[in-house]
Amino acid sequence: MNKGQKVNIEKEKCKSCGYCIHFCNKGNLSLSKAVNTRGYLYIEFNDKENKCNSCALCALMCPEAAIEVYKEEKK
Ligand code: SF4
Ligand code: SF4
Repeated sequence: MNKGQKVNIEKEKCKSCGYCIHFCNKGNLSLSKAVNTRGYLYIEFNDKENKCNSCALCALMCPEAAIEVYKEEKK
């Protein structure tokens, strides 16, 4: 995981249900083009525009507990 990244997804746990994509209103999550070892397209976190606000809705909605969200450190 990159330093400062707010969302970490364990791709091997992902079952490609898409709930997290649906609930992220910042559009930070998308399906990969590759599959994990179980054959599922997994989720990738992309926050090039720094829109993620660590709301953690994605983690809350994930039935596989594949997502961890970190709060931004206060400076
Ligand atoms: S923490 Fe919130 S804003 Fe960030 S990726 Fe998850 S749902 Fe989207
Ligand atoms: S909610 Fe969880 S299992 Fe479903 S697509 Fe997102 S990361 Fe994968």
